[in-house]
Amino acid sequence: MGCSLAFYLARQGRRVIVVDRGRIGQGATAACAGGIRAQFSTEVNIRMGMEAKRVLSRFVEETGQNADFRQVGYLFLLTTDEERRRFHDAVELQRRMGVEDVVELSPADARAIVPGLETGDLSGATFCPTDGIAGPNEVTYGFANGARARGAIFLEETPVTGFLKSGDAVCGVRTDWEEIRCPQTVICAGPWSARVGAMLGLSLPIQPSRRQIFMTDALRGFRPDSPMTIDFHTSFYFHPEGDGVLFGMSDPDIEPGEDTSVDWAFLYRITAVAQRRWPPLLEARVKTAWAGLYENTPDFQPLIGPLQPGAWIAAGFSGHGFMMAPVVGDWLAAWMAGGSPPADLSLFAPDRFGRGSLHPEANVV
Ligand SMILES: Cc1cc2nc3c(=O)[nH]c(=O)nc-3n(C[C@H](O)[C@H](O)[C@H](O)COP(=O)(O)OP(=O)(O)OC[C@H]3O[C@@H](n4cnc5c(N)ncnc54)[C@H](O)[C@@H]3O)c2cc1C
Repeated sequence: MGCSLAFYLARQGRRVIVVDRGRIGQGATAACAGGIRAQFSTEVNIRMGMEAKRVLSRFVEETGQNADFRQVGYLFLLTTDEERRRFHDAVELQRRMGVEDVVELSPADARAIVPGLETGDLSGATFCPTDGIAGPNEVTYGFANGARARGAIFLEETPVTGFLKSGDAVCGVRTDWEEIRCPQTVICAGPWSARVGAMLGLSLPIQPSRRQIFMTDALRGFRPDSPMTIDFHTSFYFHPEGDGVLFGMSDPDIEPGEDTSVDWAFLYRITAVAQRRWPPLLEARVKTAWAGLYENTPDFQPLIGPLQPGAWIAAGFSGHGFMMAPVVGDWLAAWMAGGSPPADLSLFAPDRFGRGSLHPEANVV
């Protein structure tokens, strides 16, 4: 998020400093599954997904870096009639907004796209062939190098420890080594954003929560153009990665926290689901696993906008920040330049929780 924003701000000719306590791209982004989709339930998220696909399709022209954007599609598998009805409404909205290629499918159609799926209990599916997967590293460094080429400075291994204030206004940040004065500061600290917000005396409703991903060796017969497939009811998902399979699932029992150790026992819970939904996965050898942090908000929508005079935020993406970053960086940079954002971002107002005006995103995984 920070690298995207730096890129678009630098492109406006602004002087930008990115301050990261570690190395850029090593936070939540490093753990992410790379999914890019327009199949959301909320208008603004659909629009962001459409725009993200457009940006990533011509990423090399924009930044000089290939985004490794593979438009293999996103296939949602739906179990209950309620899920099918909700996804039907979402598909209608997506099509009205211009996602022309999204379709509803029968369970048999879904099985034709991903051989081996067990579809006996499914009520339906949706599929958008232009959704897909991009490379988190490629996109992060594409933006970062593009920003650097336009004069942005990156300070890594430099934790922000506090904010500088002039009256009510934020006028910079403090690190262990120096004070950096700047008229505008943006918190893009992913799952750690509430910690950083606390340095401003704010209590931001962004909770880190562990998510795990497992990777297999080559799986014979699994096509590299197989879609990102999501069993919505259980949240079990998988997609091709190299010649193997990348898969994961949310753990409803996990407590919020910053633990990123791998719990190998969880693999048994995923494989129990896979055995019922996509048994071919059990033929592959799991070769590695990692864990990262989601950054959840109560309505699974991000906080984007001004926090205090001189301070902004773009965080709390609830598991969708990678795909939204190429668009949020652009829109927020336009907003910070004194214009208005190119879309109505009021749904994401950081102070909405106090006002109780929430519009949750339903298609969260
Ligand atoms: C397992 C998993 C799968 C996911 N799959 C997808 C997916 O398929 N598609 C998708 O769109 N999203 C996915 N996500 C979510 C996505 O990874 C995040 O929404 C996104 O990466 C957030 O980007 P970010 O830049 O806001 O945060 P981060 O990448 O976490 O970057 C935040 C940065 O802030 C720095 N920082 C923190 N505290 C400080 C401080 N005090 N001072 C200075 N720097 C600080 C950190 O070092 C870090 O580099 C997934 C997440 C996980 C964990």
